Amino acid sequence: MSAIVSVRDLHVSYGALEVVKGVDLDVAQGEKVVIMGPSGSGKSTFLRSLIWLVKPRSGRVVIDGVEVSPQTLMEVRKKIGFVFQHYNLFPHLRVVDNIVLPLVKVHKLTRAEALQRAEEALRVVGLLEKARSYPLQLSGGQQQRVAIARALAIRPRLLMLDEPTSALDPELVEEVLQVLEDVARRGTTMLIVTHEVDFALDVADRVVFFDGGKIVEEGPPDILYNPATERFRQFLKRLH
Ligand code: ADP
Ligand code: MG
Repeated sequence: MSAIVSVRDLHVSYGALEVVKGVDLDVAQGEKVVIMGPSGSGKSTFLRSLIWLVKPRSGRVVIDGVEVSPQTLMEVRKKIGFVFQHYNLFPHLRVVDNIVLPLVKVHKLTRAEALQRAEEALRVVGLLEKARSYPLQLSGGQQQRVAIARALAIRPRLLMLDEPTSALDPELVEEVLQVLEDVARRGTTMLIVTHEVDFALDVADRVVFFDGGKIVEEGPPDILYNPATERFRQFLKRLH
């Protein structure tokens, strides 16, 4: 199994506040890893620090065989799709252009190639008919599906999602989870922060529980039924 992500002894701080306190994690090609953990436990910081959106204080990150460093950062970032809690679409650009723009500007595709990729990705998320709409004409769930399409269109080696459904109204969550299940089935390597237990049970190969900036417990999704640590047990209890 070749690793797409390999993290060793990662430490991340904001000033004097250490938030990620020595994390080791490997994600194999095609693997879906779900990260759970209380608010403030460092999950978002961890994801961001993998591509230096927050620069780690120490540790080593290798993505798709390339160690992240000042020299390789731009190259590495191009291989990563990132979906945030808030969809971050450009409101003044049509849906299709939200996807085309980074493909042309960052990935140097021709406009024709980019358009083809964008249409492909919109088809995957079931929104091809909204290509000419503006983001604010769509529901929150649809906007998040566009954000997923934008991430997929770059054909990422790794797709990272940070609580992709937690900003959505409850009735919109399911359509986004359904799209993510479809994406997962296509073989994309995924690292997802989510508290959607049913989704994790259906999709994850592995569940990782973060607390206090550390991985406290990890294992197959069954650990959601039978957590080994009291901290994870308490956390899961509070979800229901
Ligand atoms: P989670 O995603 O698990 O909720 P975060 O990574 O967002 O956790 O936050 C971990 C800790 O880092 C929290 O104490 C939070 O207040 C702090 N933190 C997050 N972002 C910043 C920032 N930009 N500057 C300073 N502190 C931050
Ligand atoms: Mg977070």
